[in-house]
Formats: sequence, structure tokens, C-alpha cells
Amino acid sequence: MALQQSIHAKQTATDTIAAIATPLNASGLGIVRLSGPACLGIMRQVFRPAGTEPHKKIRSHIATPGMIRTAHHVLDQAMALYMKAPKSFTGEDMVEFTTHGSPLVLKNILSLLIERGARIAEPGEFTKRAYLNGKMDLAQAEAVAELIRAKTDAAARTAVEQLTGNLSREIKILKNTLIEIKVQLEVRLDYPEEDIDAYHLDSVIQQCDALAHTLRNLITSSVRGYALSQGVRCAIIGKPNVGKSSLLNALLQTDRAIVTDEPGTTRDVIDAEFVLHDTVVRIVDTAGIRSHAFSRAEHLGIERSRKATHDADLILAVFDQSMPVTDDDRMVLNCVEQKPWIGVLNKSDTAHPVHAHELADLLSNASVVPISALTNDGIDRLREAIGQILTINLPPIESSVIITNVRHETVLKRALRSVERATQSARERKSEECIVFEINEALTAFDEITGATTNEDILERIFAEFCIGK
Ligand code: GDP
Repeated sequence: MALQQSIHAKQTATDTIAAIATPLNASGLGIVRLSGPACLGIMRQVFRPAGTEPHKKIRSHIATPGMIRTAHHVLDQAMALYMKAPKSFTGEDMVEFTTHGSPLVLKNILSLLIERGARIAEPGEFTKRAYLNGKMDLAQAEAVAELIRAKTDAAARTAVEQLTGNLSREIKILKNTLIEIKVQLEVRLDYPEEDIDAYHLDSVIQQCDALAHTLRNLITSSVRGYALSQGVRCAIIGKPNVGKSSLLNALLQTDRAIVTDEPGTTRDVIDAEFVLHDTVVRIVDTAGIRSHAFSRAEHLGIERSRKATHDADLILAVFDQSMPVTDDDRMVLNCVEQKPWIGVLNKSDTAHPVHAHELADLLSNASVVPISALTNDGIDRLREAIGQILTINLPPIESSVIITNVRHETVLKRALRSVERATQSARERKSEECIVFEINEALTAFDEITGATTNEDILERIFAEFCIGK
């Protein structure tokens, strides 16, 4: 908390930031916002409330209609909302101008605010100020970014839960449990002449075990959490010309990938995505895999394909059932590694899919879906099969909170290791100091999640991922 307060003092004493908070597209309305000590002064210079005796009418938290103007002309009509500190998103004085959603108008207003003493906000700087001013903790601030990025209802729900503090509350409960254990141990430290009684340490072990169990459940929830927040990666692999790009198009129902008759044309790994059962499936269409690539570009494409396959959560291995099985098809099978995968038998529309039985032998142990990327036949069945694999491979959620953020998972793992070491020390009847040391380590980790202690580098990294204006 001390660190937060010192940074806060440094920031609020100085500057006022400004940014356009809405997307720069022609739209009904747009918002430009200001935060900092000079807010009201700048507002008075650029905003003329409708009617007479204008400035008496600006009251905190009451929207005021009027006009934004330079010394010479009106930029737009606007609704201005002044929010006096500390009752604002950032905890500082803030002003929001809602204008017509013209990118040009919004940019002109921003320039005017800069001319009158504000500076352009950095990405996430409004939320960073909210955190530094104690309006929200770090986990909640991170949830703001996740909510903005959310692409499915489930992802948005999870982000809102974190924003309203469910993770922070869970961390508080865990922290309180650790503090209780620590207090029990410290009482012993204060009375060293007493014998270490076995019952006392057994109770510490029990409590630490329960805590470790909760932490493991939280950590496991991140597998689903990442699927929610980042989607799952699905690689489409197969030898050249089997119809990988056509399949990608069929799945996306667009012409996103270029389809040609020439083998080996899809040299770049293409990212595209669609939503299936509330999960974003991110598709990577790889260059065709074949044992003898001709050009260097093709070699590079194949290398990237292998990497995409390696990084994928799910693989669609595509085969052409109108052609004989070749060594290249067998090579494709080698690439699926240990990943969940589906064998996709393409070109079922060909008059005689004569080689279907050869493929059936080759893929006897796999989940196989015949399709025609050309006619879309079987694409719905393939989507279903993808959905089933996703459901089977994601672990059930045993905790009420879902972890969606790598930073949280890393820190929780560190806390878990400390709690496990504390339990081990208690089992080995090591000194209370040893156990307390590990408990302190775990407590520090918990504080990093909520940002009660953290350093400026971590904050920079977190807020750099935000968009400007948030
Ligand atoms: P890729 O190299 O694996 O990406 O293959 P493409 O998607 O570029 O397709 C290669 C050729 O196969 C193109 O001429 C496609 O029109 C054709 N093709 C793709 N899918 C089908 C299909 O389901 N049926 C038929 N008859 N032709 C297909």
C-alpha cells in the first residue's frame, strides 16, 4: 500500500491526461475524457454551457449541455460531465465530453485539450490511476482489459466477476487463513521454552493441505480460463492440395484464405477465429506438409506449420479421399504428436471417393469426419466434433473463481510451492521460523495478485496492454 501511495502522490501532483475513449469510427456518439487536477480549468476554457451565466451551472456529477469551442469557432455540441475527486473512475477530478461520433471532431477536441494543458494519456493510464488511487486493486484493473477484449458471453461474464472482486475476495480468504496459521506459529515462537507439541503442527499441516487444495483448483481452472479469455488454437494440417484453405473458408464461411490449384501455395500461417460453444476457436491454416519441399519459402512455411502444430490445442488433419494415400499423408500423422486431433476426409463430393477405405485403415484409431469443403457437406458435423473434443479436454472447474490471466497463474503456483514447503517443514518438525518463512513467501505472492505490493516494471507491463483511453 505504501508503494501505491507514493506513486499516487507523484502522479496526481503533476499532470492532467486526455484521450478519446471511443473507437475512431463514424458513430452516433463519441467520448473524450480528461483526468487530473487541471480538468475543471481546462473544461472552463473550452466548454460553454448552454444559456447564461455559464460556469455557475457546472456541478459535479450532473451532465451539462453546451458547446466545445476554440477561441474562434465551435467544434461541436457536447454533453459535459464533471466528476469531482474522489468520486470518479480514476479517483481524480475527471471530465467526460460526449459529442457526435465524428473521428475528425473527436481528434480536434483532443488537440484543443492538449493545447490547453492536458497531455495525451498512455495506454491504460486512466485505469492505472484508478488502481494507484485505490479505486480498484490490480486484479480488478486487469479485469477491465479482459472485459474490453472479451469475445464471448462467457468471457465477458468471467471478466465482470473479476472486476467486481471475486478473485480479490478469494485471495483475501486465502490470505486470512495463512495469517491465522502464522499467528499460531508465532505464539509458539514467543514461548520457545514450551515443547513443540505434535498436535499443534498437525493442525498447521491440515490447514496448509486444505489451502494447497484450493490453490490447485484455482490453478487448474486456468486451463478453462485461458480457453475463455484467449480461445483455443486449432491447426489445420495436411499435404498440399487436400483442401486445407477450402476447409478454413468453409469453417469461417468467408473467403479469408486464398485457394488455388497449385500445390504449396498456402505458405503463410493464417490466423482466423470463430466462436463454438462459447469458446473462441483460433484457426491456423498451415502450409502443406510434404517430405520434399521445393523452394526455400516452402521450407520456411513447413517449419512454421510444425511450430503451429506444436503450439496447437487441437489439430484437424486433412486428407483427400479422391487420391491414393501417400508417404506425405503418413508424415502428416506423425505431426499430430500427442495432441487431441480429428481426421478430416475431404472431397466427399467427388464422384468416387475411391480411396476412403485406404484412409479408414490409416486412421483406424482416430475420430474421423468425412466432409466436402466445396459443398459444405459435413462441416456442421465437424464443428460438433471440435466442440466435443474441447469439452472432453477441458478440466471441470472445481473453484468458484476462474483464473484467466498468466500472471495470476504464475504467482499462484509460487504461492502453492511455498505452502507445500511449509507443510513439508511442519511434517519434518522443522523450526517454526522455517514454516513462517514459507508462509510469508506465500503471503507476498497473494499481495502481488491484488497489487498490494508490486513494482513499477510489472505495472508498466500490465497497463501497456490496455487500449488508449481506458
Ligand atoms: P490446400 O493446398 O490444402 O490448402 O488446398 P486448397 O484448399 O487450396 O484446395 C486445393 C484444390 O482442391 C482446389 O482446387 C480446391 O477447389 C479443391 N478442393 C478443396 N476442397 C474440395 C472438396 O471438398 N471437393 C472438391 N471436389 N475439391 C475440393
